[in-house]
Amino acid sequence: MGAIKLDNVRKSFGQVDVIKGIDLDIADGEFVVFVGPSGCGKSTLLRLIAGLEDITRGSISIDGERVDTKEPADRHIAMVFQSYALYPHMSVRRNIGFGLKIAGFPKAQVEAKIEEAARLLELTPLLDRRPRDLSGGQRQRVAIGRAIVRSPSAFLFDEPLSNLDAALRVQMRMEIIALHDQLRRTMIYVTHDQVEAMTMADRIVVLNGGKVEQFDTPVALYDHPANRFVAGFIGSPRMNFLDIERAEGNRLWLEGGLEITLPDRSAADCTRARTLGIRPEHFTHSATGGAWQGKVVVTEQLGSDAYLHVALPGRREHIVLRGVGERDFRRGDAIGLTPQPGLCHLFDDAGTTIRNIPLRGAA
Ligand code: ADP
Ligand code: MG
Repeated sequence: MGAIKLDNVRKSFGQVDVIKGIDLDIADGEFVVFVGPSGCGKSTLLRLIAGLEDITRGSISIDGERVDTKEPADRHIAMVFQSYALYPHMSVRRNIGFGLKIAGFPKAQVEAKIEEAARLLELTPLLDRRPRDLSGGQRQRVAIGRAIVRSPSAFLFDEPLSNLDAALRVQMRMEIIALHDQLRRTMIYVTHDQVEAMTMADRIVVLNGGKVEQFDTPVALYDHPANRFVAGFIGSPRMNFLDIERAEGNRLWLEGGLEITLPDRSAADCTRARTLGIRPEHFTHSATGGAWQGKVVVTEQLGSDAYLHVALPGRREHIVLRGVGERDFRRGDAIGLTPQPGLCHLFDDAGTTIRNIPLRGAA
C-alpha cells in the first residue's frame, strides 16, 4: 500500500544544493519521523515525496512503482501542514469533503467518508461549525480529516502541531499515534522537536545539512548514535562532550585536567578517540568526594528531576547532569561528580562514533 523508497534523491534550488543524495527505505505502514535542525531540508524532502517540488536527481518509488515524474494527485499521498489551510466560510463537513466533491465522487459516498473520518477524529458534534468556532486542536483534526477521506497510501505531516500550546501538543501527539494504530497507513511526520520524534516514531530519520545522519529506532539512536551530531541532537539535556588530550591504554586524560578510566575492553579504541561523550543521567553526584569536583552554577528544577549545570576548573563549558528527585543542590554549592565509565561514548576526529559503551544488549 505505501512502501516508500528514495534512491540518491537530490534537490537544488539554482546553485544551492538543499538535498544532497538521500537513500531511504520506508516500510508499508511504518510511522517515520524526519527530525533535524531548522533549514536542514525536512520540508523540502517531504515536498519532494508529495510531488510539490520536482527532484533534481535520483528516484522516488511507492510500492515499487516510480512516482517522481507523476503529478501529486496521482501519488495517492495526503499532506497535512502546520497552517491548517481550512476554508473559513465552509463548515467542518464541507471542509472535510471538499476535495472528494471536486474530484467528482458521488454525494452519498462523500457523506459516508465524512461521517467515518469525523467518528475517528471525534468531530461528529462539530460537523456544522465553521473553522473560526473551533479550537486550534480541533482545526488540526479537521485538516487531518480532510486527508483521511482521500484514503491515501501515505500521510505526510509537516510540523502539524507547532501552532498548538504544549499540553494540546502532547494530546494531539497521542491522537495521531492512535490514528496510525487504527489506519495502519504509512505516515511521515516532520518535526524539529526531538521529544516529538522520540515519542511518536517507529523509526527516526535524523537529517542535517540535506543528508541523513542516521535512520533507526528511537532507542537505537539514543543508545547507539552513529556520530557526534546524532549523539548531541537526540536527548535533552544533550550529551556532554569532553575533548580527549591523551590516552594510555584505557585511561584517558581530558581537557581541564580530568581523568577517566574506561572498561578494559575499550583500550584499543581510546588511542583513536578525540571526544568523550556522557549523557546527563550517567553521572553519580554527591556533596563531597566524587571523581571530579566542581561548583553548581545553575539548577533547573523540574520537580521530577533537577538538571544541575556544573563548572569544573579548567573547563569553559559546563557539565550538565540529571538528578532524579534531586532537591538539595543550590547555585554556588560544591559538588562531586563521578562519570559512569561503562556508559560513555567515544568519537574520532571526524565525529564518527568509535564505540558506544552503553552496551544494553548489543556488543
Ligand atoms: P526545514 O524544513 O528543515 O526547516 P527546508 O526544507 O524548508 O528546511 O529548507 C531547507 C533549505 O532550503 C533552507 O536553506 C531553505 O532556505 C532552502 N529552500 C527551501 N525552499 C526553497 C526555495 N523554493 N528556493 C530556494 N531555497 C529554498
Ligand atoms: Mg520545515
